[in-house]
Amino acid sequence: TEFSSKKVRRKFIDFFQEQYQHRVVPSSPVRPRGDPSLLFVNAGMNQFKPILLGSVDPRSEMASYRRVVNSQKCVRAGGKHNDLEDVGRDVYHHTFFEMLGNWSFGDYFKEEACSMAWRLLTEEYGIPSDRLYVSYFAGDAASGLPEDEETRQIWLSLGVQPDRILPFGMKDNFWEMGETGPCGPCTEIHYDHIGGRNASLLVNADSPDVVEIWNLVFMQYSREADQSLRPLPQCSVDTGMGLERLVTVLQGRRSNYDTDLFTPLLSAIHQSSKVPAYSGRTGEADMGKTDMAYRVVADHIRTLSVCIADGVYPGMSGAELVLRRILRRAVRFFTEVLQAPPGALASLVPTVAHILGDAYPELHTETERIMDIINENEAQFLSSLKQGQRVIDRTVNKMGSNTSVFPASVAWSLHRNLGFPVDLIDLMLEERGLAVDKAEMHLVAAENEKAQKSEDESVDHLDLHSLAELQRRGVPHTDDSPKYHYHLGEDG
Ligand code: ATP
Ligand code: MG
Ligand code: MG
Ligand code: MG
Repeated sequence: TEFSSKKVRRKFIDFFQEQYQHRVVPSSPVRPRGDPSLLFVNAGMNQFKPILLGSVDPRSEMASYRRVVNSQKCVRAGGKHNDLEDVGRDVYHHTFFEMLGNWSFGDYFKEEACSMAWRLLTEEYGIPSDRLYVSYFAGDAASGLPEDEETRQIWLSLGVQPDRILPFGMKDNFWEMGETGPCGPCTEIHYDHIGGRNASLLVNADSPDVVEIWNLVFMQYSREADQSLRPLPQCSVDTGMGLERLVTVLQGRRSNYDTDLFTPLLSAIHQSSKVPAYSGRTGEADMGKTDMAYRVVADHIRTLSVCIADGVYPGMSGAELVLRRILRRAVRFFTEVLQAPPGALASLVPTVAHILGDAYPELHTETERIMDIINENEAQFLSSLKQGQRVIDRTVNKMGSNTSVFPASVAWSLHRNLGFPVDLIDLMLEERGLAVDKAEMHLVAAENEKAQKSEDESVDHLDLHSLAELQRRGVPHTDDSPKYHYHLGEDG
């Protein structure tokens, strides 16, 4: 018997509510309330931060929360958690996803949390335990943190085989809310899609064959301003499981895009496209890049719908700018790679509402508004996209065939004057075997921003930031890179 995504979500909530007396709390909107450190809500625990920080109003309802369960709309497309670059390239990172979570605020701790999770996965959902791996915190000598042996023992007592319990360090198995505040070891559950003999080597290795599904965080310390760790008087549990990944497992698929959360969308996309249907190719096999385009459009239309429904519109700074970038990427992949007509992107919104509207009714009530906003923004972008395409063509003609380095000044102009996101420029160039010298681009950007600052207040902070980041991991600056001077519109 196959689990529909609706059943999977329902079962998670019911399990914690009915069997373990958790209170069901609705998802918060994806726009963070009163938390300037966040662009988007990126985890289930965001709305419970005041409880964990001890700053909750004692008269508020939240002050009484001890055991809570929910399914939270999350966006990871900017700030500390930014999975935008992975979307479409892999089959298990989305910009929008749903995080199923259960919490204990000063109530149960490690033993109960692990046993609830194990029971749910293996008994209720029926996942074979020989497809699961668990990780635990290995300790960290530099920070004076001990190994989380307690958790290893708990997994053993639940019947997990010793060779399926793997230690990892700070990066994967120690969670901190921020520079200061609650923190502690975590234990994660990973699913082996291949039933492989050496699958344990693929845990936390960014492989589609062994995918992390559930993170259980045990908050037991507080990081103080002087960096020392103080044991918390009250320990808490914060867990998060990606619904899309879980549904993939339960529907016996290898890709989130092959589940009922995405297949209706992929068909709707195909209806508007002039290319063959989605076939699930990835990486090198996806030479025409059409499958990646299908995934990007399907991912991005979910994010756009959810964000707009929650009042985040495409715009010029912060989360709005991120959303504008997502919209432009979606339009570009849909119209150029999949050859869809204008208006096709907005026409997908009812399908998103059909898939997710039961869980998030605002998608039903806001369908028309979401479509209008997408259409307006699409029209604007399509006209500049045409202009940009012409600029790239003309520049390439002038460059000659002995270089693959695209002039940074032109790239910057595309970005600054025509509003092209930097990652979109990269993609358009990559398709023609070209790249911008990132160091050069950063210099041009810095110079131009300085010059423009006085007359233009709306500096594109986020894109500047991503430029700096691209520069850090990007093409090293070479002194013999060609220097072009090009002014937009110089020939028409
Ligand atoms: P990964 O290592 O795969 O990037 P993560 O360690 O960053 O995941 P957590 O912050 O631990 O993820 O979030 C809890 C759970 O949320 C993960 O175990 C995973 O199931 C899910 N999840 C995280 N990021 C995404 C994403 N971009 N798309 C879909 N699901 C995600
Ligand atoms: Mg991640
Ligand atoms: Mg991880
Ligand atoms: Mg994790």
